[in-house]
Amino acid sequence: MTEEILNKKEVRITPMRQLLLEFFLEKNKILGVSDLEKTFPKSDRITIYRTLKTFEEKGIIHSIANGTAEVKYALCQDCQVANHSDFHPHFYCSKCEELSCLESVFIPSIDLPEGYSVEKMEMTIQGICKRCSV
Ligand SMILES: [Zn+2]
Ligand SMILES: [Zn+2]
Ligand SMILES: [Zn+2]
Repeated sequence: MTEEILNKKEVRITPMRQLLLEFFLEKNKILGVSDLEKTFPKSDRITIYRTLKTFEEKGIIHSIANGTAEVKYALCQDCQVANHSDFHPHFYCSKCEELSCLESVFIPSIDLPEGYSVEKMEMTIQGICKRCSV
């Protein structure tokens, strides 16, 4: 499974890359760098950061800046190599403090003044998630 994804995204297979990708697939949720460091205490920080950066460049994961100091990452759905297509908002639940991808919601395009171009758009919505509102 991990080999297939890495091959498809033109990423050279290394044990660390397979481990990290496997972890993302298994958890299937947004993870912070600290989660990864806790899970792989023997690997050094730099290797983890480099791996995340490679994954992000190749469209395997996308980063989420939600106003906290820690950058978080989630798996991409259908992103191409070096061209992310997941412009979706993220939802932060103030009750369970979980962050999730709202993949079915599109961020509306905005009209920028002339001379400006968009590279990345971030939208984080805060509220109560589906699980907590029952
Ligand atoms: Zn993406
Ligand atoms: Zn919640
Ligand atoms: Zn997302």
